[in-house]
Amino acid sequence: MQVNCERLKANLIELSKIGYNEDDRGIYRPGYSDADMESRRWLQEKAKAAGYDTYMDGAGNVFFGRGELDKPAVLMGSHIDSVPAGGIFDGSLGVLAALEVMQTLDENQVVTETPVWGVATAEEEGRFGGMLGAQAISGKLNPDWLMSAHDADGVYLKDAMAAQGLNAMDALDAAWRPEQLKAYLELHIEQGPVLFQENLQIGVVEGISGVFKWIVHLKGKADHAGTAPMDMRSDAFMGLADFAHEIERIIAENGTDKTRITVGKVELKPGNPHTVPGEAIFTIVGRDMDEDVMKEVANACRKALSAIARKHRLMFEYEQASWLAPKPCSKKLTKVIEEQVKALGYSYQRMPSGAGHDTQFLSEITDAGLIFIPSVGGVSHAPDEWSHWHDIEAGTNVLLHSVMANLT
Ligand SMILES: [Zn+2]
Repeated sequence: MQVNCERLKANLIELSKIGYNEDDRGIYRPGYSDADMESRRWLQEKAKAAGYDTYMDGAGNVFFGRGELDKPAVLMGSHIDSVPAGGIFDGSLGVLAALEVMQTLDENQVVTETPVWGVATAEEEGRFGGMLGAQAISGKLNPDWLMSAHDADGVYLKDAMAAQGLNAMDALDAAWRPEQLKAYLELHIEQGPVLFQENLQIGVVEGISGVFKWIVHLKGKADHAGTAPMDMRSDAFMGLADFAHEIERIIAENGTDKTRITVGKVELKPGNPHTVPGEAIFTIVGRDMDEDVMKEVANACRKALSAIARKHRLMFEYEQASWLAPKPCSKKLTKVIEEQVKALGYSYQRMPSGAGHDTQFLSEITDAGLIFIPSVGGVSHAPDEWSHWHDIEAGTNVLLHSVMANLT
């Protein structure tokens, strides 16, 4: 049994016109924007026209499906909102692949006791700092956050939702109970370069990497760049530079092949070309699939920074801005997906996801599985995001067969 890739392609292209900006060729569907809501209504029309039931919950999640929701359901989906100037597949692929899978099941007269439903989650891209739709479904929201969350422009979540006719507090009623679900399956583009470079068709995702974020301060002394001799300086940038060179060693000694350490934001003070930097403020973001490894890596970073600070006569302080534990996918479901990939004859590898996805919240209430297809050049969150149609077809076939394996 195979999905109809031409129909899926037509749907993806139709959806990509909503929120499209001609100037930069990007898609603008931030959570609860007019374009985001238009895409949700469009999806409901599509699902209705295909003969499915559909509804929107209090968080703005759109559900569509076949079969009464009176038995544990197999749910497929992803998100339909986008980052500003996003691409055409991030999220949308998983949503429209879900619709395609349902239509394929119907056309092949696959009759089942198990309800099969799709979902387009709301506000996955974190305009308001969360993964709101998936958090709502898994019951991980609280009223304080709903009332206080705001975007980078100071727009409150509750106001953005009200402008679209939604009451933020209703998101609390969107939770599903674990017994209502049999499994959750998500197809998503990798958004990284691994599958494309390795020339593989499918990524069987083992889980979403945990991530920690530190804000580090190295404090020395701001001196005149001409009068301060090199050996009398407390140069904060030298400390930062030394740390950058320690990263490779820290990963080799304390990490795994799944460890990532990134210094992504740096500020030097006073920031004057003629002054020795008296202070370096920078971020360290570390990731791994194993929380114990994360702890070891964090500890190694702390030790390295202490030693470097001593060497350069600096003061070292850090603040842990966040610590999110890894979210493993269901081992059972991962195996089921792998079996389908093998039976379909696609090339694949097991891998972690370095980016967050709806799956990480759904995994808290049901067996959740995540399937990746290659992103050309690893590009995502940009207008140049692209995946080949034959890979999209392969991924959607894997989704189809993984759903079928979960029906009995
Ligand atoms: Zn996404």
